[in-house]
This record gives sequence, C-alpha cells and structure tokens, in this order.
Amino acid sequence: MNPDFEAVIGLEIHIQLQTLTKAFSSDATEYGAMPNTQVSAISLGHPGTLPKHNQAAIEKAIKMGLALNCDITRINRYSRKNYFYADLPKGYQITQFDTPLCTNGTVPIKTKDGVSKSIGLIRIHMEEDTGKSMHDQDLYDTLVDYNRAGTPLIEVVTHPDIKTGDEAYAFVTEIRRLVRYLEICDGNMEEGSLRCDANISVMPKGSKVFGTKVEVKNMNSISNVKRAIDFEIHRQIEIIQNGGKVDGETRGFNGLAGTTFSMRKKEAVNDYRYFPEPDLPPTIVTQEFIEQVRSEMPELPGVLLNRFTNEYGLSEYDASVLVDDKESAHFFEEIVRLNKNYKAASNWVSITIRGYLNENALNLSQFSLTPNQIAEIIQLIDSGTINHSIASQKLFPELIKSPDSSPKELVEKLNLATNNDTSFIEELVEQVLQEFPEKVEEYKNGKTGLMGMFVGEVMKRSKGKADPKITNQLVSSRLNS
Ligand code: ADP
Ligand code: MG
Repeated sequence: MNPDFEAVIGLEIHIQLQTLTKAFSSDATEYGAMPNTQVSAISLGHPGTLPKHNQAAIEKAIKMGLALNCDITRINRYSRKNYFYADLPKGYQITQFDTPLCTNGTVPIKTKDGVSKSIGLIRIHMEEDTGKSMHDQDLYDTLVDYNRAGTPLIEVVTHPDIKTGDEAYAFVTEIRRLVRYLEICDGNMEEGSLRCDANISVMPKGSKVFGTKVEVKNMNSISNVKRAIDFEIHRQIEIIQNGGKVDGETRGFNGLAGTTFSMRKKEAVNDYRYFPEPDLPPTIVTQEFIEQVRSEMPELPGVLLNRFTNEYGLSEYDASVLVDDKESAHFFEEIVRLNKNYKAASNWVSITIRGYLNENALNLSQFSLTPNQIAEIIQLIDSGTINHSIASQKLFPELIKSPDSSPKELVEKLNLATNNDTSFIEELVEQVLQEFPEKVEEYKNGKTGLMGMFVGEVMKRSKGKADPKITNQLVSSRLNS
C-alpha cells in the first residue's frame, strides 16, 4: 500500500441465528426449501397480524454478546426501520435502534503476519432478515422468495479500528469461528447465513480526519472480503492522487474480476423514519437470565488455546490449528484424557486425521474412528510395538476399513508389529552389505552419508517393520568394525 496514505475500515456483519422458527412468527427457517413455502401472514406483513418474540433468538444473541465481552442491555426496545423494497413485504424491518442488545465489546485478532490487536465493537443489535430477490431465475423478471423474510439476525458493527484487508480477514474468521463454537449460526458465507459489509475510507497518513467512506457489499467469502478491501483502498488512493474526490456510495464486488462497482450513490442521509415498534413489548434481560445463558455456553477457543499451550505444553501453532474448530479440539481432548502424549495426539488430529478427511471430503463428525482407538494407536507406538510410519500408513487405513476392530487386534492379525529381533535384522544388514560391495568401499573411504541408504535398504526389506534405531546401530557397528 502507498506509504503516504492509511486506510480506515469498519465492518458490519449480519449473522443469521440458527433457530427452528422465525424471529416473530412460527414459520420455519430451514434453508433451501421451495420458494415461498415458509411464509405465514405474519412474515408477509398482512394487516392485523401481530409479531411475537422468539426466545431462542434472544438467547443466541446474548451468547454472542457474552462471547465478545459486551455490555448487555437490560431493557431492549424494538424499532421500525421504514423503507420500500420488493423483498420487504411489510414495508419496514423490525430492528433495534436506540437500545441495541449489546454495546462495547472487543474482539482480539491475529493476522497471518502475526499482527495482534483488538477490534472494538460499537454494538450488536437484533433484527429480522428480508426476503431474497432472485435476478437469475427468470429471463425478464426479478422473482422474490419470502422464505427468508423474518429470519432472526444479529448485526455486529465494529468501530473503524481495522486498517488492512488482512486484519478484516482475521476479524471475520474469528467471528465465524465463534458463531460455530456457540452453535448460533453455521457461518456459511456462500449461502448467506453470515454476510459482511465493509466500510472503507482512506486518508493521508497520520491524519485525524477520516476520508469519505464507501460501503462494499456482496462478498460471499472471507477471502473476497479481503480482496474487495485491498482493491477499494487502491482505487480510492488513486482517485485522490489524481486530484479527484471519493464519492460516498455503496459498491458491489465482482469476484471474477476482483473489482468493485458502483451500485448507488448516497445523495443524502437515508431517512428510515425509525419509530418504536408498537406491536412488541420490550425484552427485559435480567442478571439471572444472563447467568443462565452463560452457563450454557461452551468453552471458547481462547480458553482452549490457553489450556493447550500452558497445561499441555503444545506450541502456539499446534494449539491454534486444533482450536480452529470445536470438533477437532474436542476430539483431541478425548484422546488426551486416555493418553497424555499431547504432541502425538495433536499430530494425529491435525495431520493424519485431518489429511484423511480432507482427501475424502469428509468432516470430523463423519469420521469412523473413536478417540479411544487413536489413543490406543499412540500407546502402541510409544511402547515400541509398532513404529510411526507403519501406524499411519498401514494400521490407520486398515482400521478405517474395519472400524470395529481394536488397533491391537489388527496389529496382530496383519502382523504389523515392529521386529526388534536383532538376528532377523542382522541377517538383512548382511544381505544389503553383500549386495552393495562398492558402496561399502566408498563408505569406508569416508563417504559416511551412505549410512542412510544402507538403513533405508534394510527397512525396505523388512517391509518397514525393522526398528529404525536398532537397524541404525547394527549397520553402524557392522561397517565400523
Ligand atoms: P452509517 O450511519 O452510514 O451506517 P455508521 O456511523 O453507522 O455509518 O458506521 C457504520 C460503519 O462504518 C461502522 O462499522 C463504522 O466503524 C464504519 N465507519 C464510520 N466512518 C467510517 C470511515 N470514515 N471510514 C471507514 N469506516 C467508517
Ligand atoms: Mg449502518
């Protein structure tokens, strides 16, 4: 980025709460249903209908507020935000205006380059989603699906604390990880259950006055959030350097081209004519209720990371890979309840198991082996019964083929145990040395790097079962005698 400028970025993240029914009606919220099948008179805003609170949505919103260290508002009023658009059947959206459920709060982030900082939150408020315009279903007309109308949302609004696309990437990644830990949203940006708008401006480096902000929408992945921000910073700096002025406007993002394009100018401040929602009583949040919700929250990734590094002695890197998702972290914890070889358990989860799952496009919940079985494999390695390469390359895949077996049984059945029998290994050493007399000569003349080749040959002939340490010793003593 141009060193004469700095960027200022604030994000607004919409999070669809995973509830069975909508925010103010009993309509189902399930994604992917036939268009306009989850729409009662309430969702459609027919005259005379009355909204009713969904307690589950309020609980989930509070969970997010607690996870982000926010102050929770006790008396929550609702407001109507009035505007006309085809996807808004009521002509207004029920939202929170002057009493957002959560205020303040902070989110610690760490970028891929190791920059650690804290992003402040202005607010998190509850609201309802709109319907969905579909522009690509019909040749001539835009069609509207109202299934989404009334789905409960929370909107997280940050202070303009973010400086780069990388920081925004880290922030959205952290928010997505948290909503998944809390099980309040699936975090799926492609399907739109998590949506991020970015407000971006640039100003001369060190300036105290922010530049004109542009709001960018329609980024359906976290990497696109970063790409859109990087592009927009560049575009705005160029305008200013060419003597122009940045227009305050809303822009869209074209993922193929990696560019933003103008959607609408902000001629004037939008006038939404907010007024108090007359059909809903305020939600009163008591301390007791907050404590009840808090007691139902899982351990968050930060707590797990601390335990994994401080108590289990894992590296920051190993621990952070494990806590990327709750399922991996829990699977790991189940293993180490049975086997305290923390480093080995971490490698099995993050390397061997994750590698297998990725290759087969599975997730951990579809994995057929149990933490007990993995703990037993580690035990077999640690006791010297099998070596690591046999364990990961032979035993592991065989176990997946017959997940009801115990690792020990399979080791016996498939004859995988490491061979510590020195006479068996000695025999192979003899064979190898006889087969490569010139190499032995070269070794004796000082080419000691050939050691690895001799050991490798012996291992190969033993089909991986010769103990590598013993093999090394035997080859070495035989060559140096
Ligand atoms: P609006 O009223 O236009 O929605 P807000 O004050 O509510 O604006 O802020 C919306 C978002 O824009 C917040 O995340 C805020 O941090 C961010 N923001 C405000 N001013 C700027 C700016 N000059 N540059 C970048 N982001 C900004
Ligand atoms: Mg706003």
